[in-house]
Amino acid sequence: MSFELTRRRFFQLLAAMSAASNFPSRARASSAQALPSGMKTVNRKNLVATQVKAYAWQDEGIDALLDNLQEKGNVNTVFAFTFNSEATDVSGKIPLPDHGTYSKAHPEIGGAFYDYDPKYFTGTTLKDFHAASRFNVIGEVAPKMKARGMDFFAWDYNNTNANMMKLIPGLTKVAEIDVYGKPTDGACWNHPDYRALLTGRIESYLSGYSDLVAGIIWGCERMGPLDNLIGGGWATTGICCFCPYCLEKARDRDISAGRAREGFIKLDRLFEAAGNAQRPADGYFVTFWRILLDYPEVMAWHKMWNDSYHEVRSALYGTAKSIAPQKPFGFHMVQNITFSPFYSAADSYATIKNYADFIKIATYNNAGGGRMTGFIQRLCATIFADATPEEFTPMYMKMMGYDEAPYGELANNRLSVDYIARETKRAIADTGHSIQIYPSVDINVPVQAGWKQTTPEGVKAEVRAALTAGADGVVLSREYTEMWLANLAAAGDATREIFARP
Ligand SMILES: [Zn+2]
Repeated sequence: MSFELTRRRFFQLLAAMSAASNFPSRARASSAQALPSGMKTVNRKNLVATQVKAYAWQDEGIDALLDNLQEKGNVNTVFAFTFNSEATDVSGKIPLPDHGTYSKAHPEIGGAFYDYDPKYFTGTTLKDFHAASRFNVIGEVAPKMKARGMDFFAWDYNNTNANMMKLIPGLTKVAEIDVYGKPTDGACWNHPDYRALLTGRIESYLSGYSDLVAGIIWGCERMGPLDNLIGGGWATTGICCFCPYCLEKARDRDISAGRAREGFIKLDRLFEAAGNAQRPADGYFVTFWRILLDYPEVMAWHKMWNDSYHEVRSALYGTAKSIAPQKPFGFHMVQNITFSPFYSAADSYATIKNYADFIKIATYNNAGGGRMTGFIQRLCATIFADATPEEFTPMYMKMMGYDEAPYGELANNRLSVDYIARETKRAIADTGHSIQIYPSVDINVPVQAGWKQTTPEGVKAEVRAALTAGADGVVLSREYTEMWLANLAAAGDATREIFARP
């Protein structure tokens, strides 16, 4: 048997094992650390990446855009949207920076921005997910990047939402079913058709474009049922999932679906009461805790959702490594991982490190002030509704290991660059720095009118904070289409200066 076959078979086995197991014990076998020698991932040193939406290449011209990224931003890697689950608002409501257009000629309504061979999708009924424009970002952009010595990463972004449900024929059939029996806008991790769609896309990138795709970043901003109940900006609506595949998985785990349903509905009613300031006699927190004691099935169901999410990502990693072990495969981490004590417990970096070569963390400090404020408000409207946000925030900062402004000043005053440094260090500690850690540098991530905007000096401080904390690179975030060029250039100046140091 050739080396190629042996290697492929090895990773197929790992992927199959992780998909079949109740994560995490055996799925860890597909870890980055477990790669046999000679199959090591080759990561770019001093990565400076940014995300670019498909329409931007068409509006600004590929070469002009790449000139800006290289010359101003010192960017060497592009996370180019090859699949985008979200539509872009081209109504003109969102102000443009000093480049680009409202892209009415190329509205981005989501889908795949590349051509794929149907042979990668024989295992699923979900085969038609082309974007309306049929623009092939891999075919058009990646060769030009390669000629410049830049790396093209496929950015596969999978927030399931109403937009995707309309766009992909048949996607509603794999929808999660909520605790009340209603289908939602989220696709179920345990539905085989959805899993095969996700896996097929990884194959279509790495096998279909083996010369052009240098790596993959996969992202999805979703949370499990308990985190959805708490909410706070990134939750998928619905307390999920109670579809036939999840019911079967629950039976395998000896979890009573009926008891889980009862417990979740009680929690839903408690948080509804909190929204109406109807405090139970024992208070919100004691009542919350009592429901968990009476219905341990609630936590078991929540864990099953999170285990399924880990399982899917682990299987995608296994698939990628079976095809192109040297190409980096990593994950986008939603900003909630830096805000939520509950979500960060579920989506632990220490687990993710077992199936990733890198993580890109959404550490948007400028927009983070408003976002953290919103999250604290949700905590104080649900689990911690016994306290006001002002009362709770000092304790929250201690729980999360941050040292930021008082509650009332957070939104307008942004988060400090120390927030970026602390989250970078936490990720390094949790992963043992066995994978690459790429924090985000906030460059004009949208904030409310009147709040502080990104400045060139601010951007430089963010880059320094991230790299001084030990980051392996930075992701200029979120999108090139949002950035003022002076701020992009400030990031370029800062990375050039730091990387030139002996
Ligand atoms: Zn399900």
